[in-house]
Amino acid sequence: MDLDSLFKQVILEHYKNPLNKGLINDNSYISSSFKNPSCGDQLTLQIKVQDDTIIDCRHDGSGCSICCASASILSDVIKNKNVTQAKKMIDEFSRLVLGEKVDPNILNGEVLAFSSISTFPARIKCATLSWKSLEKGLGEI
Ligand code: ZN
Repeated sequence: MDLDSLFKQVILEHYKNPLNKGLINDNSYISSSFKNPSCGDQLTLQIKVQDDTIIDCRHDGSGCSICCASASILSDVIKNKNVTQAKKMIDEFSRLVLGEKVDPNILNGEVLAFSSISTFPARIKCATLSWKSLEKGLGEI
């Protein structure tokens, strides 16, 4: 199996079985929403930050497979990261989707599936929607 089909499989798997999906009714969570009009994606992300650490992350919304898979993977990899680490991950992710090299100590595992998105520029916004929501949420701390 080539790397591209492996990445596609990761994205499809998360689309079908998203992690941490569904919002929680708890006002200790910070909520942020974003829309991507070009594709029709809309997403709400919730994070719970305690002692400078993201201890929980939830998401809900509707969108294409790339948008939903990105939110699912983000909600998994961001847990137990501190705010500084999370901001570095946001920066690295914006490089990743442009096909640039990223620091494997900051981004690794399934999130790298989105490196192949650089060949589909029209879909980059789908992949970055959840990360933009995270950035917005972290800005409210
Ligand atoms: Zn989309």
